[in-house]
Amino acid sequence: MTTSDDPRRHIPRTDALLTVPEIDDARIRLGDTVVRTAIRDGQDAARRGEIAPDDVQQAVIDDLGTRRTSSVRPVLNGTGVVVHTNLGRAPLSSAALEAVTAAAGYVDVELDLETGARSRRGAATRAALLAACPAAGDALMVNNGAAALVLATTALAAGRAVVISRGEMIEIGAGFRLTDLIASTGARLAEVGTTNRTHLRDYADALGADDVGAILKVHPSNFRVQGFTSEATLSELRELADAHDVPLIADIGSGLLQPDALLPDEPDATTTLTAGADLVIASGDKLLGGPQAGLLLGDAALVGRLSRHPLARAVRADKLALAAMEATLTGPPPPVRLYLHADPAALRARTDKLGAALGCEVIAHDGRVGGGGAPGVPLPGWAIRLPETLAAPLRLGDPAVLTRVHDGSCLLDLRCIPESDDQRVAEAVSAARGAAGVP
Ligand SMILES: *Cc1c(COP(=O)(O)O)cnc(C)c1O
Repeated sequence: MTTSDDPRRHIPRTDALLTVPEIDDARIRLGDTVVRTAIRDGQDAARRGEIAPDDVQQAVIDDLGTRRTSSVRPVLNGTGVVVHTNLGRAPLSSAALEAVTAAAGYVDVELDLETGARSRRGAATRAALLAACPAAGDALMVNNGAAALVLATTALAAGRAVVISRGEMIEIGAGFRLTDLIASTGARLAEVGTTNRTHLRDYADALGADDVGAILKVHPSNFRVQGFTSEATLSELRELADAHDVPLIADIGSGLLQPDALLPDEPDATTTLTAGADLVIASGDKLLGGPQAGLLLGDAALVGRLSRHPLARAVRADKLALAAMEATLTGPPPPVRLYLHADPAALRARTDKLGAALGCEVIAHDGRVGGGGAPGVPLPGWAIRLPETLAAPLRLGDPAVLTRVHDGSCLLDLRCIPESDDQRVAEAVSAARGAAGVP
């Protein structure tokens, strides 16, 4: 029971709090429901005696100041893994970010403003892809790499066979296997060769024995078979494909459009098309450094056939992704490229400076390409060594910092953190030390 001198009688009422300018403004940013929840939380805290009734208003304002419009939390990637699958793969460039913001409202994604008539969706992105990969006769962007593969196998081989080497039947992550994906389209898998060796005659035998819709060559991006190995080359397969009038598809995975000298074993779309593939399939958010996307590049008639297939509508790219892809291709090098090619000397100077400021040891540390790309290729660099107990408070801090826990240490690699964030990293480490009671 509350009496007239009970302080709880002085808890501010909801309608009064809603007239406070800072709280009213928050309704525009966060919505009414979130604001009323924050108010209720503040009032409840006062009812429980945790805060004074006079402090409720400020508590609500402070609470609203920390709430985000989505639960997605930005993370500073201190792992040294450039394409970090669990951190959303490629971070967008500032140019792509600006394009996404511009594309968020009503836009001319399917309208020619000149004539007022309907236009081809994503025409500018297509042009940017063709400019970046002139070896392709046409280009189509869809939702992701897996969608590109499903579209290609459905349109070219549903009810028929897809010939694939047993050495290329990969699982791409979290239990998803490319072969299951292909089988789900209604195409039959004609597996040829063995895990370590597949010869041209294995493909030829399958083409002679089955009704084949396509030959599929997959880059086994996330593992390597070493030793007694052999595979049929694209140019050998090209001749076979011509002889049987069957399309040759190459799933290269990573999305490099041109060769990258740093990653000599990583296939790129230009070389793959030049070597004889009719169609290249790749992801947009791996080494290309763009938004989530699947790219289909190659023979104009084939790409046209795919873009007219009903399934193309089900896997079509979102306008935000189309805009981000165009800006990634035409703008400055995206973060993935910069981080991959970070100058080791510059990285060392930065790491030494931060290490000295924090009183920490700096050790040699190899970064990784990640995202299932270039397994085993080290990216020489440096890391600040912290006690392992700091990993959790760094992860839970604001900003959240993800480090690499290795050999009883917490390693902080600056490769994938913009230099402009070094001060925030230093503050995050200080806060984590405070939270963990570590000097
Ligand atoms: C990553 C990858 C895929 C899947 O692409 P998503 O964009 O993740 O759907 C398919 N094939 C290969 C070879 C890959 O590396």
